[in-house]
Amino acid sequence: MNNHITRKNFLFKAGSAVAVSAIGFPSIIIPKKKEKLGVALAGLGNYSTNWLAPGLLETRHCELRGIVTGTPSKIPVWQEQYGIPDRNVYNYESMHEMANNPDIDVVYIVLPNHLHARYSIIGADAGKHVWCEKPMALNVEECRAMMDAANKNRVQLTIGYRMQHETNTRKIIRFGQEKTYGDITGIRSGGGFNGSFRDDAWRRFPEFGGGALFDMGVYPLNASRYSTGLEPVSVRATQHTDRTEMFPDVDEHTDFELEFPGGITAICECSFGKNMDYLDIDCTDGWYRLRPFQSFRGVQGETSDGTQLPVDPTHHQARQMDNDSLAIKEKLPPVVPGEEGLADINVVEAIFKSARSGGEWVNI
Ligand code: NDP
Repeated sequence: MNNHITRKNFLFKAGSAVAVSAIGFPSIIIPKKKEKLGVALAGLGNYSTNWLAPGLLETRHCELRGIVTGTPSKIPVWQEQYGIPDRNVYNYESMHEMANNPDIDVVYIVLPNHLHARYSIIGADAGKHVWCEKPMALNVEECRAMMDAANKNRVQLTIGYRMQHETNTRKIIRFGQEKTYGDITGIRSGGGFNGSFRDDAWRRFPEFGGGALFDMGVYPLNASRYSTGLEPVSVRATQHTDRTEMFPDVDEHTDFELEFPGGITAICECSFGKNMDYLDIDCTDGWYRLRPFQSFRGVQGETSDGTQLPVDPTHHQARQMDNDSLAIKEKLPPVVPGEEGLADINVVEAIFKSARSGGEWVNI
């Protein structure tokens, strides 16, 4: 484990050393494979269009070279905007043919949640490294199948938890590791937005992995785990829906309380009906907090001794994809491997179980 953390830290140092070189200092770490990795985005919806593709214009270690889409009308638009040649355009039926395409090194799965496992496995079986969006999959079994496919094909599988790449988030992870403010005693975290969804929006339906917990709950859950560096031992949860016409079968709100070893508790909430974005951490010798802690921009915070954690304007997704590319090039463990996604989904399953039981504590 220590070795793993050390290698991760090395990766961050590698990233910053290369970044420094961009403003005129000599590069300390020279990537073994200098060429940029080719990324294919699978699923050209909101996140790919507005965040990942623009982010790939800023990356130094990878670039957008391919697309996988089920909507033919998007193809000419993306080809023109990003200069994607015909040979790098796929649909979901032809995606496996990437196996014969040396332009593509990585396929990034940015599909509705119920499709993460299926297309991650197709990508891995095509011999491509796989980046998969959060939540990793709908259940632990799917997560394991994804990891097995990556291992079998000797490719990396990483999860798109972009916060773990963000500067202030890295700082508070270090506060926890180094006990800068003493031992952590408690966490409070919430992620949510007051949203309205179209009738056919996949986030409204359980069979597509809809609901607030899968979409927003994984942020406070993942934050509780990365802040403490610990795995929760039990959880209790309740779920409810106010707008039953919009969310007849998925949670609009989920509240959950995690118990960690040493008596640390994390009180978490997520919602499709309420705006919130906070991560507050209490310690024996002080506190620190990030507000917002998971938005696309503007993550910032403060600590009990008055230290400010100012916004780092770096494009989150570009940093994430550069870190993940460096991990591939340097053959290092990625910052957020499949195991991280699986650990969250293991807790998500326990949260659903507890909610079904009316809020009983469930061992994890
Ligand atoms: P969208 O609904 O905007 O896009 C999903 C895309 O998937 C569609 O546009 C479509 O692309 C493709 N698709 C294929 N099959 C289906 C289907 N049956 N129903 C609907 N779409 C389908 O979703 P988002 O982009 O918001 O989210 C995609 C993933 O990214 C989710 O897993 C989500 O959790 C994650 N995400 C992560 C964020 C983060 O910060 N890490 C932020 C936002 C989302 P096409 O027409 O090209 O086939």
